[in-house]
Parts: sequence; C-alpha cells; structure tokens
Amino acid sequence: VRDSTTLTVSELFESIQGEGPSAGVPCTFLRLSHCNLRCSWCDTKYTWDWQAYRIEDETRVVALDAVARELARFGRERLVVTGGEPLIQQRALAGLFTVLPASWAIEVETNGTLEPLPELVERVMQWNVSPKLSNSGETLARRYRPEALGALRATGRAFLKLVVATPEDVAEAEGLVSTLAWPAERVLLMPQGATRAELAATTAFVRAAAAERGFGHSPRLHIERWEGVRGK
Ligand code: SF4
Repeated sequence: VRDSTTLTVSELFESIQGEGPSAGVPCTFLRLSHCNLRCSWCDTKYTWDWQAYRIEDETRVVALDAVARELARFGRERLVVTGGEPLIQQRALAGLFTVLPASWAIEVETNGTLEPLPELVERVMQWNVSPKLSNSGETLARRYRPEALGALRATGRAFLKLVVATPEDVAEAEGLVSTLAWPAERVLLMPQGATRAELAATTAFVRAAAAERGFGHSPRLHIERWEGVRGK
C-alpha cells in the first residue's frame, strides 16, 4: 500500500457519478483497495474485508502509467477516485495525477480521516467528504478526525456528504456541521440504503430534513438504477 509507484486497484470502470454534488455526470471511476474504517453498512466491503473476500481476487497492483493508460481508454475527461479510502494511497495517487492530462476534472471521495497532501489539494477539483456517524458502528476515535476535516474544508472545494436514516442521525449530522462550521450549502444529506426498498423508505424523510436545515440532499443513483451491481 505504501509503494508510491503503484496503486492497489479494486475496480476501474465508466459510469455516472451516483452520489454527491455531481450526481448524474458521466465519469470514469478508479476504485482503490483498502480502508482504515470498518463501517457496518459499507457497500464496498470487497475493497477491504479480507475475511469475506479473497485479496488475490479483489486487488491488482498496477504501475501508475498503466493505470493512466487504462483510464485514458474510456475517453472521458472526468475522473472519480473512490474506495475503500483512497487517501491511504495518496502518495501514489499524487504520482498518478502528474501523468494524467491537465484537462481532466478530478473528484476524490474520502471518509475525511486523513489529511490530503498539498499536491492533491492543488490538483483535485472536488472533494466529496463523507465522515461517518455513529450509525456506521465505528468508534468516534477512528471515524472523527477534526484536523483532517479542517484541512479538507480549507481547500474550499469540499462537500460534506452525510449518510442518515433516522432523526437521531440527522441531529448528529447537524451537530457535526455546526462543530466544523462547515457552510450549509456545501452539506448534503444522503439516505442510508443498500437496496431500492431501503432507499425508498428513507428518501422523503431525508430530503425534508435537508431542506429544513438549508442542506442539500444526495441521491444514490447506483442503488436506484442497478441496486449496487458492481462495476456500474
Ligand atoms: S469508510 Fe467507506 S469504504 Fe470504508 S468501511 Fe466505511 S463505507 Fe466502507
């Protein structure tokens, strides 16, 4: 993971951005392996849960120029880097960005526990920061890193995307936004749900809760369209 000349890749595919401020926009996805958290409802456990998945089947260690070539084949100028937690491999990611065309728009999804390197801050057009709430089952000490969140907020290009399902979750999300003094217009509430039925049950509530607080809301287009089928 710490080798900065290669990336440990989970998946590489083209799709539409399914969540966050650019939901619906066509893009290439680079999903990196490994995560420093263990959220109970994680929908990409194949990037880190090596009890349930075989690491040999789920990961490829790829040289940076080869990753760049694979990405270029899709012919899109918009890249979303996700995981897992992509900032675990951020030194290599910074190296990848130096060999990608400067015209590409790059978004990075992160759980907000790791401070981004200055090279990444300079290059990344949009940060989709999704700090986990207590509904993740993760401990506060592991999931909440105010210094990392502060560094991401200071980029001026970061959105908070908070996964909620209940009024308690919304109250917790609101408390976090207020503690971080994060601008409301850069906050999105997103319904928890790994199936269409789960999403349908929470979406109306989440939209109303977001509107009441001046937050935005995020869809989950991948669940709506493909119900979590991989590589979409
Ligand atoms: S931070 Fe994201 S990738 Fe990591 S376990 Fe939680 S939901 Fe999954």
